[in-house]
Amino acid sequence: MAKTIIVSNRLPIRIEKEDGQKVYKTSEGGLATGLGSIYKEGNNIWIGWPGISLDHEEEQEVEKELIDRNMRPVFLTDDDVEDFYLGFSNQTLWPAFHYFIHHMRFVDEEWESYYNANRKFADAVSKWLEPDDIIWVHDYQLMLVPEMIRKQFPNVTIGFFQHIPFPSYEVFRMIPWRKKLLNGVLGADYIGFHTYDDMRHFLSSCHRLAGYSYERNQILVKNRLVEADSLPMGIDYEKYLQSATSQLAKAKEISYRDSLGSQELILSMDRLDYSKGIPGRLQAFDKFLEKYPEYQGRVSLFLIVVPSRDQVASYKALKEKVEFLVGHVNGKYGTINYVPVHFYYRSFPLDDLSAFYRMCKIAMITPKRDGMNLVCKEYIASRENEDGVLILSEMAGASKELSDAILVNPNDQNEMVEAIKRALEMPLNEQKRRMKIMQRTVKKYTIFQWVDLFMNNLKDLKERQQSMA
Ligand code: UDP
Repeated sequence: MAKTIIVSNRLPIRIEKEDGQKVYKTSEGGLATGLGSIYKEGNNIWIGWPGISLDHEEEQEVEKELIDRNMRPVFLTDDDVEDFYLGFSNQTLWPAFHYFIHHMRFVDEEWESYYNANRKFADAVSKWLEPDDIIWVHDYQLMLVPEMIRKQFPNVTIGFFQHIPFPSYEVFRMIPWRKKLLNGVLGADYIGFHTYDDMRHFLSSCHRLAGYSYERNQILVKNRLVEADSLPMGIDYEKYLQSATSQLAKAKEISYRDSLGSQELILSMDRLDYSKGIPGRLQAFDKFLEKYPEYQGRVSLFLIVVPSRDQVASYKALKEKVEFLVGHVNGKYGTINYVPVHFYYRSFPLDDLSAFYRMCKIAMITPKRDGMNLVCKEYIASRENEDGVLILSEMAGASKELSDAILVNPNDQNEMVEAIKRALEMPLNEQKRRMKIMQRTVKKYTIFQWVDLFMNNLKDLKERQQSMA
């Protein structure tokens, strides 16, 4: 029976070593949840890196152990991790695609490593591929994989989804290997993006940099019909709602509240990443307290930063900047019984996140650029009483669906200052009116709908290709 093969850089589990023993940790991420309904079924499989480098014997053990869990590992060496993952993926593509052009670097060896690592993933697909299988490749680390598979298997069905933004062609063109990257992705039949703008940027790059003409969202690649589409990814709404309404989350909220006092809380929650706009948010909060001193002592920022990529120099520098700004604001406005910024540099389990989503009247999510942003959707799903205010950057993919948030330009400090005031003073009926609309949207387009829609559109396109032949 034909199967579906999911391919992504990371598997939905990661292996860690504790006292020399291998331990399997499952990923709770949105993608793993959504695709769980696919890869766990029948003979479907998920191909990816288990997050650790191992010796040959251990690799063989892991491969055997993962087969029972419908997973197939791709093993990366320490050099691959350095050059393919931390190098080209995260210091060329990531900054370019998030418009941080001063952070991007172009290193030939890193490009070669990217190519070779993509080859490893493509080879793993070839190893397990059977006629009529459907392949779904995920994200910017694997842009060359679709074409590599297509060259070997010209008629195979391949989907590709890009989880981060696709930049304007003016930025994309700066990458020396731009044409190879585009042709890599065009090996897929159906190519998904979070927003219409990302899709348009991709199409215009294909046209202007690789010479393809397109009509609406369709491109002919050697007589094969390829379609680009915008499909915003959602969350498992019921999971977040249930968790937020559980006795555990409520009990945690009460106990945190007891310690915190009666201050209004503004939630800020992101991975440590320069694309998330964390320093800008802290600076806006500083300006807010300065401009509206009557709020000093009455409102605190609840700042969660999840450690990420801390081997990369620009991330280390960012951490120091955040720590400096937290110290600055707390030193300037703090009193014996008022902490302006509650700062946590770590990750939390879902029960805690749910308690935080409950207890913060405002969520301030102001990335400089974000493919989608799921935290804001989780906040919305967790607002049991339909109150609360979302301040959201217009540079987050989610802003296209959530026009009832207070939308701000994250580079406009004054606008962010006024947005905080507006959020704090918003009447309850207005909060509820907006929150209900946003809840309806997030509840309707869940991660499960997203997966079904992608797979159905891919199959439908394949049928249209066959009827054209
Ligand atoms: N998250 C988490 N633990 C934390 C903070 C956040 O598991 O302590 C999760 C959060 O619930 C969300 C994800 O991390 O599902 C972040 O996804 P998002 O799309 O907002 O940003 P990304 O990190 O993928 O750029």
